[in-house]
Amino acid sequence: TSASSEGEFRFKVVLLGEGAVGKSSLMLRYVEDKFSPRHVSTIQASFLSKRLDLGDNHVDLDIWDTAGQEKYHALGPIYYRGSHGALLIYDITDKRSFEKVKIWVRELQRALGETAVLIVVGNKLDLESERTVDRTEAIQYAKSVNAEYVETSAKENLGLADLFEKISSLMIDKW
Ligand code: GDP
Repeated sequence: TSASSEGEFRFKVVLLGEGAVGKSSLMLRYVEDKFSPRHVSTIQASFLSKRLDLGDNHVDLDIWDTAGQEKYHALGPIYYRGSHGALLIYDITDKRSFEKVKIWVRELQRALGETAVLIVVGNKLDLESERTVDRTEAIQYAKSVNAEYVETSAKENLGLADLFEKISSLMIDKW
């Protein structure tokens, strides 16, 4: 259990998804309100922390990025271990990245069982005109694996506060 006292929570959230879907960008935008048009291939830390106030509950989120390791499919148990939640991220303009989410979900469930809260995230919502993954299909897929579904843009800072509040509330309900 993560509650150190009433209303105080600390949760580990891992980011998963194909390279270049925007994992590092989402984390940097949300935690530090920064965005770079270039690929942020390595960040200094393996995770960044952010404190959220949700009514009477205070949540410290440790958000873990893969730091490019997904390319080698080398994410070991240390990456997943102890995760309370996972964001399965794809790029709405890249169908292959959506198919990759399905593989990550299976891998995560193999590693963690059904314990973690899952949210499927369609990123790059600012590129709506280039969308190739149907929103309804993505919502249905998320439902089929007991995950929530959210769309975001790290570039335009759309949906990120809602996303992290949503996963925090779900984790509070679960733990
Ligand atoms: P990662 O490999 O999954 O961590 O992806 P990055 O965060 O490095 O992002 C890959 C590329 O996509 C970079 O060029 C980012 O600037 C760009 N990017 C990330 N998020 C968005 C977004 O919401 N909209 C657009 N248009 N580009 C984005």
